[in-house]
Amino acid sequence: MRRRGGASAGKIVLEEWPEEIETRSPNDILKWAIDRFHPNIALASSFGAEDVVIIDMLSKINSESRVITLDTGRLPQETYDVMDEIRRRYGLSIEVSFPDTQSVEKMVKDHGLNLFYESIEFRKLCCGVRKVDPLNKAMSGLEAWITGLRRDQSNTRAEIRKVELDHQHDNIVKINPLADWDSDMVWSYVKKNKIPYNKLHDQNYPSIGCAPCTRAVKPGEDPRAGRWWWELDAFKECGLHQSPMKKN
Ligand code: SF4
Repeated sequence: MRRRGGASAGKIVLEEWPEEIETRSPNDILKWAIDRFHPNIALASSFGAEDVVIIDMLSKINSESRVITLDTGRLPQETYDVMDEIRRRYGLSIEVSFPDTQSVEKMVKDHGLNLFYESIEFRKLCCGVRKVDPLNKAMSGLEAWITGLRRDQSNTRAEIRKVELDHQHDNIVKINPLADWDSDMVWSYVKKNKIPYNKLHDQNYPSIGCAPCTRAVKPGEDPRAGRWWWELDAFKECGLHQSPMKKN
């Protein structure tokens, strides 16, 4: 794999990307990103509705576009099902990253299998071992990554830009092509293009993570209310997405 280093790539792009890129369509942004970074760019996918939309777009731009995902060991069966459906439909070679076995064994030995219900500290420990560390491993060598984040998903995502630098990951470029889409636009695209999607979405799961940490939402609830629902007002991110570094 060609490697030029994330931070230096980020600095170069910071100088070259036009401000008007923020006004471009998801498809245009993905075309620009693939042209600029492939093969050192990947979609980090949890196979939610936004991710399958991006996979459909990417597969039409370059059939060898890379998709990375995390198997935390605690995912719902429906997520594995859609992962395989997507693999068959698009002929993708999905790159799956797993947690470090010894780290999981130590965590479970020290705190049990359901530690996340005991405290925010333990929940963050589990997300660190099962999600953050494997993502960092999967992102090694990337110059850019793509996410399905939308601004209207939560307060913590309201400020994201379509193209930004990710200071959490060595200042590589983070691309959020659907930043200004809403849920209706996502589902309209999914239905129009008959894209396989996670069947939990049909059971009022707008946001899907690990099985023990995700529940359906009630009418009128925040779309992410079903994630770590017992934490109430806590900062509901698993550590994969922190505040962006902006161009301005
Ligand atoms: Fe662990 Fe829950 Fe985080 Fe999954 S979402 S890594 S099970 S705390």
